[in-house]
Amino acid sequence: MTNVIYPTTNFKATEQIVVERGEGVYVYDNHGKQYLEGLAGLWCTSLGYGNQELIDAATAQMGQLSYYHAFGGKTHPMMMALADKIRDMVPVDNAKIFFGNSGSDANDTFIKILRYYANATGRPEKRKIITRERGYHGVTVAAGALTSLPANLTHFDAPVEALGILRTDHPHYYKGRHPGESEEAFVDRIVGNLEKLILAEGADTIAAFLAEPITGASGVIVPPAGYYEKVQAVLNKHDIMFWADEVICGFGRTGNDFGCTTMNIENPALMTLAKQLSSAYVPISASVVRGDIYEALVEPVSEVGVFGHGYTYSGHPLGCAVALKTLEIYERDNIFEKAAKTGAYLQKKLAPFAEHPLVGEVRGRGLIAALELVSDKATGEGFPPSVAGFLTNACAEAGLIGRPVAGTAFALCPPLIITEAQIDELTDKLATG
Ligand code: PLP
Repeated sequence: MTNVIYPTTNFKATEQIVVERGEGVYVYDNHGKQYLEGLAGLWCTSLGYGNQELIDAATAQMGQLSYYHAFGGKTHPMMMALADKIRDMVPVDNAKIFFGNSGSDANDTFIKILRYYANATGRPEKRKIITRERGYHGVTVAAGALTSLPANLTHFDAPVEALGILRTDHPHYYKGRHPGESEEAFVDRIVGNLEKLILAEGADTIAAFLAEPITGASGVIVPPAGYYEKVQAVLNKHDIMFWADEVICGFGRTGNDFGCTTMNIENPALMTLAKQLSSAYVPISASVVRGDIYEALVEPVSEVGVFGHGYTYSGHPLGCAVALKTLEIYERDNIFEKAAKTGAYLQKKLAPFAEHPLVGEVRGRGLIAALELVSDKATGEGFPPSVAGFLTNACAEAGLIGRPVAGTAFALCPPLIITEAQIDELTDKLATG
C-alpha cells in the first residue's frame, strides 16, 4: 500500500488499478491494459480523455491569468462569460450563478442560501429541507447529511437533525412497491407520504425539497411517469422550493440538456451543477439560483448584511475557462442530440440483459443505466453487496469499468462521446463479465 488515504474506500482495501493515461473513452493502466471507461470516471468525463481544445483552453488561461478571486465584486472575464453561458442553457428563469469547486460544496452553498433566504424574507423558521431515501448529494459535513446512503452517514454522526433535514420515500418502483401495487398507486402513495410529512412538520418550517431528477450514485433510479408532476403540485401548494441536484444528470446525460427536462420538472428554484460542467477536466461547480429567489436575497425585508459565503477558488479562472469551452463544444458539436441517440441505442442494447436469471431489472435513460442483480427474479431478493463487486471486477478483467451502486446494482454511464460501435464493445464486455 502507498501512503494515500483513498476516498470512499474500505481502509483495508488494496490498490486495484493504477490508471496512467486516457484517450477518448478509454483509459490505460500501468501495464498498458486498455479499459473502456463505462462510468465516465465518476459520472463526469463527458467529452472523454485528451480533448485538445480543453487542454488548449486550460493552457491559454494559465498563461493569461492563473488565479484571481471573486470576493467583494472583483471578477474576471471568464467567470462573467461562464455565468452568462450557464444562464442561457439552464431551464431556470433569470438564473444567477454562484461558483464553487465540487458538487458537495455547491450543495452546502444552497443550505446556506436557504437559511439566508429564510432570514431575508422574514420567515426564519422556514428552513428545513426534505431529501429522499437513497439520495446522494455529497459528503461534506452538511451535504453528507443531505445524502441518505448509510455508508455516508454511519460513523460520522451526521448533523441531520441539527440541519433540519427530513427524509421521504425514494421513487424506485421496483424496490419500493407493495405487492400488487400499480405504478400509479405507488406514485400516489409516496407523494401522499410527502404531503403527510409536510403537514406533520408544518409547511411554514420547510424551505425546499431536494432531488436528483434521476438518482445516480444510489442505483440509477428513474421515477415512474407522473411522479414529478405530482410532487411539484404538492410543493407549489405548500410554497416549498424544488431544488434539483443535476450534478450527474446535467448536460446531456439523460437524453436531454438537463434531467429536469427529461423528467418534466419545471423551472426549479435551485439547481446544482458540477461534474460534466467542465467534463471533469478541472474541478468546478455552480449553484444556480432562480431570479425571483435571488431578488429576495438582494432586497431583504430586514437587514441581514453581507452574504458572508465564498471559497478562495470560487470562480477560479482555470475552471471557468475550461467549463466555458466545454459548454461551447456541447453546443457546437450537438453533443446532447448525439448523446440522446447513442443513449437510446445503449438502452436498447442493455434491455436483453433483463432476461438473464440474475438480473431483476434493467433501468436507465439516455447514457445512464443500471442492472439490478437479484438472487430470485420472482421476489426481487437481492444479493449481498459483494456480488455487484464481483461483477465489477469481472468486467474490469474483460476491459470494462463500471461501478457497483446501492449494494445490489451495477451502473454504467459512459462518456457522452461514446459511439454505437463502442457501445457494442461495452455490452460485449458486460456479457463476458
Ligand atoms: N450530487 C450528486 C447528485 C452527485 O452524484 C455527487 C457526486 O457524485 C455530488 C452531489 C457530490 O459531488 P462532489 O463529489 O463533486 O462533491
